[in-house]
Amino acid sequence: MAQKSGVNSRTLLQNLRDTLAEDGDGQERLDHITQLVSESMETEVCSIYLRRDPQTLELCATEGLNKEAVHQTRMRVGEGLVGRIAKRAAPINTKNAPQEKGFRYMAETGEELFSSLLGVPIQRLGEVLGVLVVQSKDARKYTDDEVYALEVVAMVIAEMKELGAFTGEGEAMTAPHQRAHLFRGGSAQEGAARGVVLLHDPKIVIANPVADDPEIEKGRLNDAIQQLRLNVDVLLSANQNEDKEQIEVMESYRMFANSRGWVARLEASIDSGLAAEVAVEKEQSATRARMSRVPDPYLRERLHDLDDLSNRLLRLLTGQGRAAGDSVPDNAVLVASNIGPAELLEYGKKIKGLVLEHGSVGSHAAIIARAWAIPMVIHADNITREALNGDEVLVDGDQGIVHLRPDESITAAFKDKIAMLTEAQQKYVAIRDEPAATLDGVKIGMQMNAGLMADLPSLPTSGAEGVGLFRTELQFLLRNSMPKRSDLANLYGRVFDAAGDLPINFRTLDIGSDKVLPYLQPEDEPNPAMGWRAIRVGLDKKGVMQMQLQAFIRAANGRPLRVMFPFVAQYGEFKDAKAMLGAVLRNEERLGHVMPADVKVGAMLETPSLAFAPDQFFEECDFISIGGNDLKQFFYAADRENERVRRRYDTLNVSFMRFIGQIADRCDSFGTPVSFCGEDAGRPIEAMCFAAMGLRNLSMRPASIGPVKHMLRKTDLGEARAMIDEAMASGEQSIRGHVMEWLKSRG
Ligand code: PEP
Ligand code: MG
Repeated sequence: MAQKSGVNSRTLLQNLRDTLAEDGDGQERLDHITQLVSESMETEVCSIYLRRDPQTLELCATEGLNKEAVHQTRMRVGEGLVGRIAKRAAPINTKNAPQEKGFRYMAETGEELFSSLLGVPIQRLGEVLGVLVVQSKDARKYTDDEVYALEVVAMVIAEMKELGAFTGEGEAMTAPHQRAHLFRGGSAQEGAARGVVLLHDPKIVIANPVADDPEIEKGRLNDAIQQLRLNVDVLLSANQNEDKEQIEVMESYRMFANSRGWVARLEASIDSGLAAEVAVEKEQSATRARMSRVPDPYLRERLHDLDDLSNRLLRLLTGQGRAAGDSVPDNAVLVASNIGPAELLEYGKKIKGLVLEHGSVGSHAAIIARAWAIPMVIHADNITREALNGDEVLVDGDQGIVHLRPDESITAAFKDKIAMLTEAQQKYVAIRDEPAATLDGVKIGMQMNAGLMADLPSLPTSGAEGVGLFRTELQFLLRNSMPKRSDLANLYGRVFDAAGDLPINFRTLDIGSDKVLPYLQPEDEPNPAMGWRAIRVGLDKKGVMQMQLQAFIRAANGRPLRVMFPFVAQYGEFKDAKAMLGAVLRNEERLGHVMPADVKVGAMLETPSLAFAPDQFFEECDFISIGGNDLKQFFYAADRENERVRRRYDTLNVSFMRFIGQIADRCDSFGTPVSFCGEDAGRPIEAMCFAAMGLRNLSMRPASIGPVKHMLRKTDLGEARAMIDEAMASGEQSIRGHVMEWLKSRG
């Protein structure tokens, strides 16, 4: 296997390793590599093109082309044959390059002399870093073994520490993943954190890509594969009771893990001189390239399984990466491409900050970050490529900026910022026990949002007068199977105990959309935000809702109970849900359980339709809570998780403010208490405007209570309303400009 026709890839790799072991800078190494490859493969040319930025490739070393063209010749990704190799992440092998479609002639390189071309992508885990090319004068078609040998060399180049040095002409030759980096994203949660990177999906660092002894490497590979097969078997037997589809997925894992073809391909790469982990990465890059080209979603999913299996194998081989159950290091700032609420909850409250490449302010991951009071930055492009586990990182949630591996001056300034923020928080402690009364004597009820047991210690310390929204689904998201009624009753009992005499609005299970329970088969819906969610699930799957209502009643154990139904879009849904609660109460009484001292039944107003419900709804509903996160997305028809559209619509837009005013007035006319528990309630300016529009209760994350209360205590609500009325009549789309001016004029 080691001997390939025309080229001995193992000898080539050994020579390559010797070259890499020699002293010399990055440029010298690349020059050596091109010499070595062109000699071994008996080609006139060998060139290395590296990605200077996401769109541009640059000739960085060559044997055989004009040396003056090095660092001068550039092309766009997709342009010419080299650009095409980078774009498609696939080799090109041609006898007659000038006749190929898309060939671009580059006079300065002198390449008109050469007919044949073989080029392969230099890639690491599916990320194309450059292109490695050989060319010959004669019309030669390279053999499969030669293609293979060049791919193996490309793998080794991809692992070179100095590669990052070539990403810009004249730029300091710093190794990649060592330079300071600034990422400008968006703010999803204010605050500042200094810590170390914890990658949600960590990269593996390979110290030595070329192996001395293929037998030892094969031994390591086989040990790891045995372990992998064992793990997959354990996984499968532990989940025997799962549904058919889940078992099918795991069976396909087992099939891949036992695939002889897969193992044979890995062993062939080891025979050619690669270390076991690089052989796995090579196979993984090929899988990922295939994945992006396969149109069939089922096959794509299976390739995904194979990719995941490779990741597991890499973890076993290197001992790196995170396994389920690993503890979270101190000061960890979680860095991910994106993350769902269940995955985030698994890390627990120890996380100091959250940075995402995608993500959205309106997502439930953001809501959890807010509840934990940790800064969160979204849209930090490419941070998962740059950051390594353990890198120092500063998260500026106010500006939406992340400093990766910052230099000392930035760190010093940042420390000052953190100190200032801590000082500002101290200021709010002083007004903790004071009422949120405005200058003109209007008292605004301040409550907190919660959902985790870890939130409850904040109840006495935040100054909240109760829990305005208890998101019960967070407890469901934390588990792998449906919780038992007794577990829930126990848990809610502890919530009652922690709250003492303060009221708690228990919201029934609000699943669906981005809150997916792995054990409650998610429906494959085209538009889950408007799909089968919240009360719609509760009314259809009665068993789950009844079980939860029983748990509330048993937990209350004679204490007053407040239940709130989420996402009520029409009166009938509220009536049905309330009737279900009535039936459960009667049944519990019959069973001999202690009845709550009092039962209040509320609804969340999260769709505009409910604001126009029949009068009877307002008469029968004991309290209403405006779920502004959802209400806003349906009011503007703008997905709360899609930053591009979400950001177009200001909460202080005249239409939305008018709507809030109308809801407040309608509730007032029936004497139905109404509060606002969406994220905007925790923003001081928005909160002040809501109060001015007539809302008298606000529920927010605990850390916002201080700043909102501070703002309200400095506001004359009558004056604020007059200013808002004037702003709404001005013809401006949003009242924000007027509000800011008005606040400034008051210092
Ligand atoms: C809301 O929609 O405003 C709300 C409070 O509910 P959630 O954010 O959990 O959907
Ligand atoms: Mg909602």
